[in-house]
Amino acid sequence: MRRLVLLVLAIALIFLVPSEGIGASIRVVTTIPDLADMAKHIGGDLVEVKSLATGVEDIHAVPMKPSFVPLLNRADVVMVMGLDAEHAFLPALLEVARNPKIQPNGPGYIDCSIYIAPLEVPTRIDRALGDQHPAGNPHFNLDPVRGKDMARAIADSLARNYPDKAPTFQKNLAAYLATLDAAIARWEREAVPLRGMKLVSYHPDMIYFAERFGMEAVGTIEIRAGIDPTPGHIVALEDMMRRQGVKLVVRELHYPAGLAATVAQHTGATLVELPAMVGGVPEAKDYLSFINYNVQAMLKAAATINAARN
Ligand SMILES: [Zn+2]
Repeated sequence: MRRLVLLVLAIALIFLVPSEGIGASIRVVTTIPDLADMAKHIGGDLVEVKSLATGVEDIHAVPMKPSFVPLLNRADVVMVMGLDAEHAFLPALLEVARNPKIQPNGPGYIDCSIYIAPLEVPTRIDRALGDQHPAGNPHFNLDPVRGKDMARAIADSLARNYPDKAPTFQKNLAAYLATLDAAIARWEREAVPLRGMKLVSYHPDMIYFAERFGMEAVGTIEIRAGIDPTPGHIVALEDMMRRQGVKLVVRELHYPAGLAATVAQHTGATLVELPAMVGGVPEAKDYLSFINYNVQAMLKAAATINAARN
C-alpha cells in the first residue's frame, strides 16, 4: 500500500508543469494550518502559504495526496512541528518531492519546535511498539504561550533564509506577539474556573494546554500515543477516574466518538469535543480563534460540572 502511494506521488511529479510567474513571493508549505496562519502573519505579502493538512486530520497520519508533491517540489521553505510529529507522512513526501532546499538538512527546512522544551521525552525509544511521540510530546500548539515560540522560530528561520527581508519579519513578529499576548492575558483571566480540574483525553495531546491553564491531564483512552485501548485498559482508566474524581473527558475530534462517550457515561463525567489544530472546527479559522474555541469549550464544560456539584 505504502509503495503504491509513493508510486502515485512519483508519477504526479512527472506531470509537474513549470511554475507560473508569481513574482518574488516566497513559497511556504506548512504541515498544519496553525503554522500556515503564523507564516502569513509573519511573512505578510512576501509569502505565499499552503498547508498540507486542513486541520481535521490526525497530525500523526495526514493522508498523502498527489497534489502535495508539486507543492513541495516548488517550495522555498517547509515548516514542520517537529519532534517527529509528522514522521508518518512527511519523510516519504520529501523524498519524492526531490527538492534539496527543504530536505531535513537543507536551509529551507524550518523546524518550529526549536525553541520548545518538550514534555514527556521518553527514556526508551521503541517505535516498533508504535509510539507516536518518540522525541517527546509534540502537541505544544495547544498552548498559546508556546505558540509564541512557534512564531519566533518561523520569523528567525525566514530571516536566516532571506536576510534582506529580516527587518520585515521581525516587525511583523512583534505585532503578532503583541496580539497573542493580549489574548493570552484575557484567556488566563477567563480560565480561572479551570484551575485544579483533572481531565482524561483520547490521545496524550492535552498536557501543554492543561499545564497552561492549571488543569491536570491524568490519563488517556489510548494506552499511549498511537496504541489503541484494550477492554482491560478502559476498566482501569474508569476506576482511576472514579478514585480521583475526574469529571472531564476530552475527545479530540479526529478520534472515534463512541468510546469517549461511553467512558464519560460510565464515570459521570462531562464530554468535551475539541479540535487539535486550526481548521478542526469551522470556528477555529486561525490560531487565535482555535485557542479561544478550546478555552471557551472547556469553560462551558466546567460550568456544567460545577452546576451538577451545587
Ligand atoms: Zn500525538
